[in-house]
Amino acid sequence: MDGKGGHAIGIDLGTTYSCVGVWKHNRVEIIVNDQGNRTTPSHVAFTDKERLVGDGAFNQVIRNPTNSIFDAKRLIGRRFSDSTVQNDVKLWPFKVIQGPGDRPLIVVTQNGEDKQFTAEEISSMVLVKMREIAEAYLGSTVKNAVITVPANFNDSQRQATKDAGGIAGLNVMRIINEPTAAAIAYGLDKKASGYSRSNVMIFDLGGGTLDVSLLTITGGVFEVKATAGDTHLGGEDFDNRMVNYCVEQFKRKHIFDLGGNSRALSRLRNACEKAKRRLSVMTETDIEIDCLHQGIDFYTTITRGKFEQLNMDFFNKCVEPVEKCLKDANIGKSSVHDVVLAGGSSRIPKVQQILQDVFQGKELCKGINPDEAVAYGAAVEAAVLCGNGNGELQDFTLLDVSPFSLGIETGFDGEMTVLIPRNTTIPVMINKFFTTGYDNQVGVRFRIYEGESATIVDNNLLGEFWLDNIPPAPKGVPQLKTCFQIDCNGLLSIFAEDMSTGQKKGITINR
Ligand code: AMP
Repeated sequence: MDGKGGHAIGIDLGTTYSCVGVWKHNRVEIIVNDQGNRTTPSHVAFTDKERLVGDGAFNQVIRNPTNSIFDAKRLIGRRFSDSTVQNDVKLWPFKVIQGPGDRPLIVVTQNGEDKQFTAEEISSMVLVKMREIAEAYLGSTVKNAVITVPANFNDSQRQATKDAGGIAGLNVMRIINEPTAAAIAYGLDKKASGYSRSNVMIFDLGGGTLDVSLLTITGGVFEVKATAGDTHLGGEDFDNRMVNYCVEQFKRKHIFDLGGNSRALSRLRNACEKAKRRLSVMTETDIEIDCLHQGIDFYTTITRGKFEQLNMDFFNKCVEPVEKCLKDANIGKSSVHDVVLAGGSSRIPKVQQILQDVFQGKELCKGINPDEAVAYGAAVEAAVLCGNGNGELQDFTLLDVSPFSLGIETGFDGEMTVLIPRNTTIPVMINKFFTTGYDNQVGVRFRIYEGESATIVDNNLLGEFWLDNIPPAPKGVPQLKTCFQIDCNGLLSIFAEDMSTGQKKGITINR
């Protein structure tokens, strides 16, 4: 057992792949799975005989598309009626239904029986797999973990990820942001080669999300200045565009529509994902699938230019969070010392070129492993929290930010009064006094929102509570102290106190 707290692992719970690391022998070890791979597909499959997770699930997807679940991260902490969920549901071969409280429920069939799972439950199965991979390597049980989430995950998505860890039997010591974790990987590497202070932008484009963060790294202190991103932009969107293109091609050549053939679509998605990877190093590639539909073979050649054309709007969308992050951090492009690429999709040449253009031709930093950097950073944080870092991580400090503005509804016009502006360093606690809006008002409803609009209609309602039994008084007289607190996992709690009676009410936000 290392250090005082036992082994603690860092898990990058990705949309498409997950990765686990541990601090051992004074460095991070990225742990290979039972197939010898350093990343594990975030797939869970249900057959009549067993439940498969990881490579086993991924390898049988074509035979069993409707019971092979992926993309749980695109559902976690979201409502079924969410427009992004509605769009995704149309593309997935597996079934998702609306559960109680507008929760999405994934439906699978096992031994002729329908079973329903929440996204947290599916994610917990992936987390158990990652824990088992670590346990096999370490030869001991593992309880403690740091899990990463996209920086732009909202409160509900963070809470749901933490819940998934709990279901997996893990003590989730901390939820940290993926780009921050990638920055740790970059920073430790740089520290080893001796440097002082630098402004670093992390551009992390993975399977399902884009995260951009600007940090100042001084020795072992990692201070996030701003973060921005898109929780629904990544490699899978690029795959889908290719799949749609091939479906059109097939229809044009052979009249048939592949729409209802989920097995054919799974095979096509698989082939497109592989072709996409090849197009990062080749300018042209073939997609060949025997007996795709009705005994007809499918064959097409796709060029890098065509792939770029199909996805140009997505690629251009990557610029927005970069600009927003620079503006929020108030750091000029020329003051950014390194632009660091992370996430598998950051290998796409067009994405790199667009990013390089934003920084007037600056050379991008490709020095960290884009598939492993997030798990690497999470493993470092896990070691620090467990006291396992020894001398190496002695001066290590992480200062992250909250990605959204948080506040309450005030006035009669649905105004949003912000208590915690976005990009505030966390943990944080902010108090503000409010009062009643009319004479003898004995109850006040506190509605909590996240978002950047001045009015609540365009922001996201997180929860509400009432503070009742306020002694009757003219409007404006009661003093209602309202406290917003974000912990180091980015989770929010709120309470309000009537100063005349000491009565307190509050909530911790979860769904
Ligand atoms: P991550 O979430 O960082 O594991 O990234 C996974 C995504 O990166 C998947 O959508 C992969 O298809 C994509 N990806 C991995 N390698 C490449 C590559 N060489 N070119 C393009 N996309 C890639």
